[in-house]
Amino acid sequence: MREPDAGLVAASAVTERCRGGLAACCVVTGAIFSAAAGLLRGPVPDEPAASAVPAAPAALATTPFEFIAVTIGRNDTLDQVFRRLQLQISDLAELRQLPDVRRSLDTLRPGDVIQLTHLDGELRSLTRRIGATALLTITRAGQGFAANVFPLPYRVEQRRLQGAVSSSLYGAVNAAGGTDRLAVALADVFKYDIDFINSVQPGDRFTVAWERRVHDEQTGVDGDILAAEFVNSGRSFRAVRYVMPDGRADYYTPDGRPVRKAFLRFPVDFARISSGFSLARRHPILNRVRAHRGVDFAAPTGTPVKAAGAGRVVSRGAGSGYGNVVVLSHGNGVTTLYGHLSRFARGLAVGDRVAQSEVIGYVGKTGLATGPHLHYEYRVNGVHQNPARVTLPKADPIPERLMADFRTRTTPLLAQLDAPAQLAAAGGQH
Ligand SMILES: [Zn+2]
Repeated sequence: MREPDAGLVAASAVTERCRGGLAACCVVTGAIFSAAAGLLRGPVPDEPAASAVPAAPAALATTPFEFIAVTIGRNDTLDQVFRRLQLQISDLAELRQLPDVRRSLDTLRPGDVIQLTHLDGELRSLTRRIGATALLTITRAGQGFAANVFPLPYRVEQRRLQGAVSSSLYGAVNAAGGTDRLAVALADVFKYDIDFINSVQPGDRFTVAWERRVHDEQTGVDGDILAAEFVNSGRSFRAVRYVMPDGRADYYTPDGRPVRKAFLRFPVDFARISSGFSLARRHPILNRVRAHRGVDFAAPTGTPVKAAGAGRVVSRGAGSGYGNVVVLSHGNGVTTLYGHLSRFARGLAVGDRVAQSEVIGYVGKTGLATGPHLHYEYRVNGVHQNPARVTLPKADPIPERLMADFRTRTTPLLAQLDAPAQLAAAGGQH
């Protein structure tokens, strides 16, 4: 990589660029070329400094060879940027012809930085970030241009967050500074044991340790939860992530029992139980006292309905008061039923095998239903059980031969749940 050279980049009064900004551009550009050679192993290069040149007004005197970092303003288009900088518009047209590039080029947001190099108005290279995790770089190659997308280097940090729940888990995670994605992941870890819509209450609290892929100060992506605790009505649930030697990862209690169960207790996310299991209730449409041998989950039409457990489709059709209904058989005499669906998952047919959590249909109000909800039944040898209470079969435990490894790997993760204060960032480099 060549050092920025003031002789190469003659300063222009109009663009008000400073050496610091230019140097930052060069660092990034250099990083791109290193990445191209597969050599980039270091930490994240600095973002182009905030002092990067704003989109300059017209009448720019072009110099023979320049680096320019343009910060996109409101309503800016690349056409305008090219015209302002007196770059050849025909080059831009050519860039847009490159496969898969047009969209990445034309999706501009205020504050985006686009780095350009040109020689006398002829574009040599263009670089911009795509989302939080990749860099698009286009360089002149022979007669035309070549485009490449490079994943941005990142480092993995471990983070920890604690919070108390006042109304919802989502609100609590947000209030503590976590993202929606983290809240969803946390609910997902404990979904077998805790009904986050119906049974969370004030006084509940959580602690979560997770990985975050950090690209720079501003951007990062939440990765896996490593360990978590949720205290629900005074009862503590703990889970820790363990990766088997074959690469399969799952969550376990601290003593190695699986958190996951062979069945989901709630086959719809974000639903409210609108009617529980009862041997005598007044049916809202038939107006007769009838047993309600399932649980109704109120949720908007179109909410995905998931197979509660791995199994086989034994029935799929429109029948009786259940409207569009799917019945799955899970072995050991267990069957589950999903009624009032607005539609079935595409291609779902009798005889198909489905995995746990696979979407089999969507909430609706077909059949005898006053509003959109899922009617869900869990039967053992033909006898209806209360799915909210039945003891669900467990998923496979950790094999005994892996228990020593499990303890070695998970002890430090679980320790984070008891750490008194925020842990310092740690983790390797990628
Ligand atoms: Zn029902």
